[in-house]
Amino acid sequence: MSTPLSPPPLTDDCFALPPGTHWTPVSEAHDMLRTRLRTVVGQEVVALAEALNRILAQDVVAARANPPQPNSAVDGYGLRHAETVVGPQTLPLATGRAAAGAPFGSVLPLGHAVRILTGATIPEGVDTVILQEDVTTDGTQIAFHGGLRKGANLRRAGEDVDAGAVILQAGRRITPADLALSAATGLSELSVHTRLRVAVLSTGDELAQPGETARPDQIFDANRPMLLAMIKRFGFEPVDAGRAPDDRDALKAMLDAAAADADLILTSGGASAGDEDHLSALLNESGAMNLWRLAIKPGRPLALGLWNQKPVFGLPGNPVAALVCALIFARPAMGVLAGEGWHAVEPLMVPANFSKSKKAGRREYLRARLRDGKAEVFTSEGSGRISGLSWAEGLVELPDNACEIVPDTPVAFHSYASFGL
Ligand code: AMP
Ligand code: MG
Repeated sequence: MSTPLSPPPLTDDCFALPPGTHWTPVSEAHDMLRTRLRTVVGQEVVALAEALNRILAQDVVAARANPPQPNSAVDGYGLRHAETVVGPQTLPLATGRAAAGAPFGSVLPLGHAVRILTGATIPEGVDTVILQEDVTTDGTQIAFHGGLRKGANLRRAGEDVDAGAVILQAGRRITPADLALSAATGLSELSVHTRLRVAVLSTGDELAQPGETARPDQIFDANRPMLLAMIKRFGFEPVDAGRAPDDRDALKAMLDAAAADADLILTSGGASAGDEDHLSALLNESGAMNLWRLAIKPGRPLALGLWNQKPVFGLPGNPVAALVCALIFARPAMGVLAGEGWHAVEPLMVPANFSKSKKAGRREYLRARLRDGKAEVFTSEGSGRISGLSWAEGLVELPDNACEIVPDTPVAFHSYASFGL
């Protein structure tokens, strides 16, 4: 007869972080990712119309000055400063005018003023422009009060950008304003990195696909649509690598396919050390696996490895933890792989509209949003609560050390938008 099994005794530390285990602080994990990863994507030249959100592969040099020639900043009249006096005076108007795109075409006759419109190239001889509101005219002459500043209302050639100047630096993610600057300085195409291809793979026998009839014991795969959409928002190329069952051979085949098609693989689920945690088992077998026990809530284990030379981020299965780990670890890592370098997201310090007592030893992220300038947090911290992710508009980050938050304590708020979502 076998001895009846009894459960293991409770230990002193059952509510504490495991002693002797090294819980890696977030900042240490960041340092490792920043220093160990490098750009893995290539380069291509794209037209300005295709360049929004792409990452510059090289510094951009202005092909032309802006403005290319001196021009008028206002609608008014051009004249020679030396021909003005302090006090009331008149000047005859030269025949013709200078308009944007339709130059005056000759030298301003001595002792004259010339009609000039905003953006018009400054005619030779003109060194000052008087605002039309400061002038009366009968069409043949203008009357005004002198005492103008020489050079008034002129834009100098190159006062914005000189030809040959570096206007944008490699690694920059191109914004609408960058397209204006590039176009203005004579560029029609830019050298950018090829888009980072990121495969997203879900794992678990319990996962049904949207549109399928789910068995009562199944849940719908929430992480894959979320992670694929996040990658798209980040400006990378999402690759749907499907759902792997809790079967080692099937997962292996799907990892092979994902590695062949992408620069990076994001998986969710199966990353801990349980019976059905095949991802960590496989990465372990491949010999290029590190299970990072992170001092973070929600989150904890993040399986990092290489599969056929492609980096794999094994995110936790819980959707809340998956999103937090994707934003806090995968997002900056993707930046490095994609050629934009490491970017720490700057939080906004705002007063809390909640109370919380936090223990030392790990960093915490709370689902949060700003209302009336204050951060409010979701009622439940349960990491399966997907409704809270959708309710939130960002995360409140509480530091590694212990802290006592009461209403109006300043807290660090990271909007989803600040991550690029
Ligand atoms: P695992 O890490 O595989 O043990 O998963 C942890 C928890 O997350 C379990 O409750 C899973 O059912 C759940 N989970 C795993 N993957 C997903 C997914 N893609 N969508 C929604 N929940 C998931
Ligand atoms: Mg699982």
